[in-house]
Amino acid sequence: MDFRLSEEERAFVAEVVAFLEGEATHPDAADFMAPDREADSMLADSPARRAFNRRLGEQGYLGMTWPAQYGGSERPGIYEYLLNEELAGRGAPLIGKGVGCIGKTLIRHGSDVLKSEFLPRILTADVEFALGYSEPNAGSDLAALKLRATKTETGWILDGQKTFTTSAHFADWYWVAARTDPTAPKHKGISVFLIPMDHPGLTIQEIKTMGDHRTNAVFFDHVEIGEDRLVGEVNKGWIYVCEALDFERFTFFTVNPIITKFRELLALLKATERGGAPLTDDPLIAQQIGRLAADVEAAKMLQRRVIVAAGKGEVPAVEAAMYKLFSTQLGQRLADFALDALGPQGLLAHGAAGAPADGKWEHSYRATALDTIGGGSSEVQKNIIARRGLGLPLA
Ligand SMILES: Cc1cc2nc3c(=O)[nH]c(=O)nc-3n(C[C@H](O)[C@H](O)[C@H](O)COP(=O)(O)OP(=O)(O)OC[C@H]3O[C@@H](n4cnc5c(N)ncnc54)[C@H](O)[C@@H]3O)c2cc1C
Repeated sequence: MDFRLSEEERAFVAEVVAFLEGEATHPDAADFMAPDREADSMLADSPARRAFNRRLGEQGYLGMTWPAQYGGSERPGIYEYLLNEELAGRGAPLIGKGVGCIGKTLIRHGSDVLKSEFLPRILTADVEFALGYSEPNAGSDLAALKLRATKTETGWILDGQKTFTTSAHFADWYWVAARTDPTAPKHKGISVFLIPMDHPGLTIQEIKTMGDHRTNAVFFDHVEIGEDRLVGEVNKGWIYVCEALDFERFTFFTVNPIITKFRELLALLKATERGGAPLTDDPLIAQQIGRLAADVEAAKMLQRRVIVAAGKGEVPAVEAAMYKLFSTQLGQRLADFALDALGPQGLLAHGAAGAPADGKWEHSYRATALDTIGGGSSEVQKNIIARRGLGLPLA
């Protein structure tokens, strides 16, 4: 496999790097770039972050893969990866939800009304979305979702609950999967709706997580919406959700933060002394670093396989599952090793006197717990590899 970038792709990366270097000098850069912490800026909101997203739009970086008729530049998908890698490397918000899941689904299946209402605003980053899929009893088995949408003469009424909706507390619109036909087989009675996040009848309740990320439970109490809020065809929602998850997997999981974290950890351990010698002089620590270096390289190659397959127009579900499984567990192993090697000091949190790297590794240990759950848990990835990759029977 040839993993090298073309001249045009390398030029694009150089252009993005130059743009981000300029952005890093912005007085509010700390609000939308967090290079020394986990890349969690997607999970928070601020005027500076929104302004940064709008500047991404002005640069033409949103909708790069969209058709020209919707304001896109019809570039191959690899450009979205390349952009997201550079954004992730600096802890800046990634492009994904709006441009990927929602924009691409609307382009393929949305009504003209929804297209003209949302696509231009996605391109200028004037709208934020939250994804409402998971429910208390429907996560890995998403098709078991129960949020009920009942047909009325003029539209739909929604009743029920979603859980773990990231960004519901600041998003403008809610992309929601609901059950529209409870009598149909579970994959066939689901539809997707777009609902304003401040709609009467919606209650948003904070869920705090161990990684300091805020997510939310969302309750629907007789939420009445018009027919025009339905995305595509009724009862075809499962197809749209699966397609959108494919878009998400392709664009959300980046390798640059892992490479950067590995380099930073190596530098920290070299600079940290115990018993008058750098920690890296300890043969056990050196061995583990060697192992992690090989793992980082393996993660890079697994990700390249996803990109190459996607570039050929394939749906690299198995490659993406392998990469997600391996890289998210590697992120956790890195943080685990950092705390082991740093000893008790490694447990000191951000702001504590003497905390190595100002508590970065203590935070990373907590924050990376999410990575093997969100976007499909590790077990779900293993199932995809076993069934779709190896043809093993369903459990
Ligand atoms: C911080 C955070 C943010 C999130 N953000 C969003 C969001 O914005 N929008 C959204 O819709 N969802 C979001 N999620 C939900 C996330 O996608 C689900 O938590 C995830 O899919 C797992 O579902 P679950 O929590 O219901 O766990 P379950 O599906 O109940 O799984 C519990 C355990 O059983 C394992 N398991 C389940 N099924 C199988 C199987 N068939 N074989 C083997 N093992 C299995 C799982 O791997 C897991 O270890 C978020 C979650 C978190 C924690």
